Parts: sequence; structure tokens; C-alpha cells
Amino acid sequence: MHLARFPRIFLAHLPTPLERLDRLSKELGGPEIWIKRDDCTGLSTGGNKTRKLEFLMAEALAQGADTVITQGATQSNHARQTAAFSAKLGLACHILLEDRTGSNDANYNTNGNVLLDHLHGAKTSRRAGGVDMAAEMEVLAERLRGEGRKPYIIPGGGSNPTGALGYVNCAFELVSQANDRGLVIDHIVTATGSAGTQAGLITGLKALNAGIPLLGIGVRAPKEKQEESVYALAQRTAEKLGCPGVVARSDVVADSSYVGAGYGIPREDTLEAIRMFAQLEGILLDPVYSGKGVAGLIDHVRKGRFTKGQRVVFLHTGGAAGLFGYDAAFAEGRKALEM
Ligand SMILES: *Cc1c(COP(=O)(O)O)cnc(C)c1O
Repeated sequence: MHLARFPRIFLAHLPTPLERLDRLSKELGGPEIWIKRDDCTGLSTGGNKTRKLEFLMAEALAQGADTVITQGATQSNHARQTAAFSAKLGLACHILLEDRTGSNDANYNTNGNVLLDHLHGAKTSRRAGGVDMAAEMEVLAERLRGEGRKPYIIPGGGSNPTGALGYVNCAFELVSQANDRGLVIDHIVTATGSAGTQAGLITGLKALNAGIPLLGIGVRAPKEKQEESVYALAQRTAEKLGCPGVVARSDVVADSSYVGAGYGIPREDTLEAIRMFAQLEGILLDPVYSGKGVAGLIDHVRKGRFTKGQRVVFLHTGGAAGLFGYDAAFAEGRKALEM
């Protein structure tokens, strides 16, 4: 298991901190809750896509690309980190933004991650919700090739076996931090969307024989579909790493009970989770991913699935830039605090 064999551009601020959340743990009265700060990877407000992009962008350069194409929802954190990484490498960046929420809110459409995409000089183009975004990227790539460019396509969320290597590395990093301080981890919890984070983590954890179960809190697809896509990517990632078959289907566990009305639409418990982290720990979550991930974590603690004496690590995947596209969701809380 030697990740140095894969091309990589070292840009993330690693290792990210592993911290104990004392006030949150006390408030919930259950397990000790720890946080792995992948919101602090350093690239344009950070987030989990930076680890994946270290491997993806190295592959783009190795293939002689001068342009990167990717896609995501309007408030995509992946798009913003790709735009920033492209700027750092001097590559052109084209982003296709899918309107998954149908929101007409001005901040949702131009502030937050969208503002940052443009600050980094990326070109954006909008697509209606539900269109085949992979096909749209191919059409754009063909057009750019016709103009003499050399595009490299990154799938949504950077989730393919190359991108997932970033989270194999995160599993090594986290287990090593826990070993160094004698911290026995009973469970890891994280938000799961395009699957690369959970797939990479579980592949790394299994390859290490760490014996730590991982729970993904879904943000879009139903449980069965989410688990299948994580499992499929984990299998391909394990093959790429040279340890085929190391992940069993039963190692892949997702809970999609906290999605609500759909992707990118926060529920009341999402907003509660965001407020709790902000007010008990001074840490920002986001309304699309980490807020739902923590809503799931809190619910599992309240239902006694994680108990006193255990240690649960929440992998914070970032996304706080998206808050500025979602200010309307917090309007009520604002009224209560304005004196
Ligand atoms: C993309 C993203 C996720 C989900 O990670 P996947 O690898 O797509 O499953 C979680 N949190 C944030 C903030 C993200 O931007």
C-alpha cells in the first residue's frame, strides 16, 4: 500500500487537525465526539475535494492537459476547489453548473461558491436539473478540442478511483494520528454524496485492517443506491491500489434518513446541527453536506446507537462557503438575535 507510486501534487495543508469536541459531547451526553478537520485543507476555504484533486490534477498534468472541465450543483464545493487548483497550476477551468434545487434566490445563484468560482477565473455555464452532466462535459470537451485545447475531464465530486486515493490517504492519516495519541476510535461518521470520500476511506481502513466501522450519511440518493455506488467505487479503488477484494459489501453502510426534500435542501435538523456546531464549538458546517452529516450523527447519539464511553470521529468535509448562498434559510434565527 504505497501511495507514493501515484502522481500527486502536494498542495493540501496536511495532516488536518484531529480535535475533541468537548462542549458538543457534553451537550449530547453520549460518546466522546471528535472531529477530523478536512474543512481545513487550505485551498480556497478548504474541503474534501482538495485531497482528491491532488491526485486528479497530477493526472491532468501528466496527460498534458491545458484545461480542466468539471461539473456540480450551483453551490458545488468541488467546482470551487477545482477552480482554485486550476488557478494555482495555470490551467483554464470550465465548470458546468446543474440547477438541482430550482432556487431563484440571488445569493444561491451568485454568492458563496459561485462567487469564488468566478474569482478564481473559472468559466461557468448553467444546465437544467436532471440533464446528463457527464454527456454535457463530453460535448464541451469535444468543442474545446476543436479549438486546439487539451481538456481533462474530472467527474462530479472528483469521484473516480484516482480521486478516491485522496481518501485512502486520509484513512492512513487519521489512523496514524489516533495511534500516535492512543485514541481508540469506535466509529467514523461522514457525509456521503458522489461516493469518493466514503469509498476511499473504507478502502484505506480495510487495507490497514483498522477495524473501524464507517457510517456515511447520505445527502441525495436512497440508502441502497448510495451504498451500491460507494461499494462499486471502493472495489475499483482497491484494484487500483493493488488490493482487490479488500472491501466487502457489508463494510459499506449509508443512512439516507436525513436527506429531506432533496439534494441541497436543508431540513430543520440540518439547520439545528449547523447552529449547534457554530454555537458550541465555533465551527462552521454547511447546509448541503456536513449539516446533514451532523444531523445524522446527533440523531444516532440521541437514539443510543453511539453510547457513553465510545469515541466517534466526525470527518468534516467542509462546505462553509456555501452558507453565503443559503442566508435565506437562516432568516428566522437572525430575527431572534438582532436587538
Ligand atoms: C462533495 C462533498 C461531500 C461529499 O463527498 P463525496 O466524495 O462527493 O461523497 C461532503 N461534504 C462536502 C462539503 C462536499 O463538498
